[in-house]
Formats: sequence, C-alpha cells, structure tokens
Amino acid sequence: MLSSDSWSVSALSVSLAFVAALVLSFLAKLWLSGRQVRHVAQHRDSVPPAFAGTVSLKAHQKAADYTMARSRVGTLHLAFDTALLVGWTLLGGLDLLNQWMLSWEPLIGPMGYQLGLLVGFALLSGLLDLPWSLYNTFRLEQRFGFNRTTLRLFVMDGLKGMVVGAVVGLPIAALILWLMGAAGHTWWMWAWAVWMGFNLLMLVVYPTLIAPLFNKFEPLADPTMRERVEGLMARCGFAAKGLFVMDGSRRSAHGNAYFTGLGASKRVVFFDTLLSRLNPPEVEAVLAHELGHFKRRHVLKRMVMMFALSLAGFALLGLLSTLPQFFLGLGVRPSLTAPNDALALLLFMLVLPPFTFFLTPLMAFWSRKHEFEADAYACEQSSGRDLSAALLKLHEDNAGTLTPDPVFARFYYSHPPASERLAAISALSGLPTGVGRLDGGAA
Ligand SMILES: [Zn+2]
Repeated sequence: MLSSDSWSVSALSVSLAFVAALVLSFLAKLWLSGRQVRHVAQHRDSVPPAFAGTVSLKAHQKAADYTMARSRVGTLHLAFDTALLVGWTLLGGLDLLNQWMLSWEPLIGPMGYQLGLLVGFALLSGLLDLPWSLYNTFRLEQRFGFNRTTLRLFVMDGLKGMVVGAVVGLPIAALILWLMGAAGHTWWMWAWAVWMGFNLLMLVVYPTLIAPLFNKFEPLADPTMRERVEGLMARCGFAAKGLFVMDGSRRSAHGNAYFTGLGASKRVVFFDTLLSRLNPPEVEAVLAHELGHFKRRHVLKRMVMMFALSLAGFALLGLLSTLPQFFLGLGVRPSLTAPNDALALLLFMLVLPPFTFFLTPLMAFWSRKHEFEADAYACEQSSGRDLSAALLKLHEDNAGTLTPDPVFARFYYSHPPASERLAAISALSGLPTGVGRLDGGAA
C-alpha cells in the first residue's frame, strides 16, 4: 500500500491547502464580481461627465447591461467549474478516468496509456464546457447583437481546434512525458527547455500557419490608409508587410487590434470590424500604439516573464510528482507499475489555478503599465487626439463599461479603464482634460 500513516497526514495537508486556495479564490471572485455588478448598476442611468459629449446614454446603458449580463453568466460558470474541479480531484473523477485508462495499458503500452489519459481528459472537459460556450455565443452575444457565428462555423471551429490540438499538442506532450520518464531527477529542466523551444516555435508558427486556418488575413487594401500606415511604419522602423486585416466579422461584431509573432513573423493585426469604424488618422494612431508594444520591448519582457514562471512551475512539478501524498491528497491513486507522469501533469494543471489566481492583480498591473507606455509611444509618433477617438469607438464596439468598480479594475483589467487612459493621453498630448471635447475637431 502506498498510504502509510505518515503519508496520509501529509496527504491531508495537501487536501487542506488545495481546499483553502479553492475556497478563498472562489470567494474572492464572487466578491469582486458582486462589486462590479453593483457599481455598474449604480452608474447605469447617467453617462460620466467626462464622456458626456462623446458617448450616448443608449450606448452607456447597453454597456452596463452587457457587463451585468456577462457577470451573471460568469458567476454561474464559476460555480459550475469549481464544483467540477472538486469532482475531478477530491471526489475521484480523475481517478476513475485514470483507472479505466490503466486497464488499457497492457494493450497500448505505457506511452499509449499516458497520451490516452491526456486525450480522454481533454475531450471530457471540452464536452462539459460546450454548453457554456454555446450559451455565451448563441444567447448572450446574440442578445446584444454581437454574434455573427453560425452553428456550422461553430462546429467547424471546434473540429479544426481538435485536429490542430492533436497535431501540435500530442508530439510535444509525448516528448515531455518521455523526458519525465527517461531524464532522471532533473527531467524538469530538460522539459522546461523543450517547452520554451516549443513556445518560441509557436510564436512563429501560430500567426503564419495556425491562425490562417481560422481566419483570412490580408494586407491593407485601401490606398489612402496604406500610404499613411506605411509612412508611420517607416518612421518607426517596422517592416511594411507586417500589417494585416483579419475577417473578425465572420464570428463577431466586436472589434480589436493586436500584435503577435517574432522575427519575420511579427505583425500587427486589425479586425475588419474595427477598421471599418476608423478613419485613416485613427488607424494610424492605433497602429502606433501596437508598434509601441514592440518598440518598448513588451513582447520580449512578456516572454522572459513567461520563461521564468514556467521554470518555477516545472521545478515545482518536479518536486510534487515524486511525492505520493501529492496524488493521494488530491484524490487520485498513483499506479505502482505504470508511469504516473501524465497523471501528475494533469493534476498539477488542475490544482494550480486556484493558487496562481492571487497573482492576477500583479500581472494585470504590469499589463496596464505596458498599455500606458504604448499609448505614450503612440502620442509621440502619431496623434493623441486620434488615439482617444479610436479608443472610444473601440470601447463602444465592445460595449465596455465606462464605470467599472475601481477594485475590480485594479484586480483584473489588463487595459486601464477608459477614463484613466484618456486622461493620460490628454495630459501627454497637451489636450484639454475634459475628454468629452476630444472628438470635436478630429473627424
Ligand atoms: Zn495595447
């Protein structure tokens, strides 16, 4: 038997630490979303004075209703996911799946069993999450007029996602599992190196090979816009072929712009939905913001941070996967004959989030700092007035609330609340502080 008396005591403390993190993070999330809903509801009836000239009451109320509706569904989803996590771990769901997969091990071998466990888990949890993503897409987004996904597209996306996941995920999973079994007690350093190499490779492969499976990416067509954009890119020292327009309108009316990639694959992507709403100077300003992320080395900094966090994660897994009480304390029985590496990996990925949740405000703070820096870069290279106008349109297209709860925003927001962002841009560009007047002469 694996569980001697001293082990079961330690296993109990593993269970208790997990339950404590789970309960604390659950309560913190409930408290935060309760605050957000109350704050948004209290400010639903009037547009904040700073936005009085630019945002209509109708748009403001739509944003409030959308935010509250999403929070309500989000709370139910949270309760479901929390119960499911307890079901997988302490109540023995993962153990059940594992015992069943183990019964196949003599037939498919140790690696077959381990990959089978990962695939079985991925399929089951995907299936259990399916009702939520169906509801969010075809009810919630639909109700607010954002959804443009058809059921056929939804199904195709799901199938393609599974194929890509298998083609990309299975080889890397097999390689890491092999290292866990064959590389001795420092396997986690090797696995980390492989994982980092994989991430760098994905930075090149994702934008060029994977994203095009789901969307069309085309160079900017409009000649007036092109000229402006190429001028800016040349000023900032960025390859002119790095700007793409994506057919985001196939799935949703939400607009966005983002930067991605590495080396020759690095690019800025505009959703066609956003592009259709902006005039050429505004497009230039948004692009300048995205280029700011490259110029201020945000991509590199994020990568270094991700490298450091993954190293800590792999080191921790290296330690935990040798302790029987890690498994027993979380409701699974490790096998005495077959390798337990896939089981350890799954268990680790399941129980880590309630702990790392408490890092959210730090990461969000860091991200907001980058957004301010990218805005400042855009004000230098382009026009703060145009950037403000573009941000307001982006905000409206996504029905983002202008009145978030301050604590909620500090905790979660990867982008500063619109009021703070526009105030900072005004200060940098020497514009009048009332952002309501910004739009005045722009268009
Ligand atoms: Zn940004």
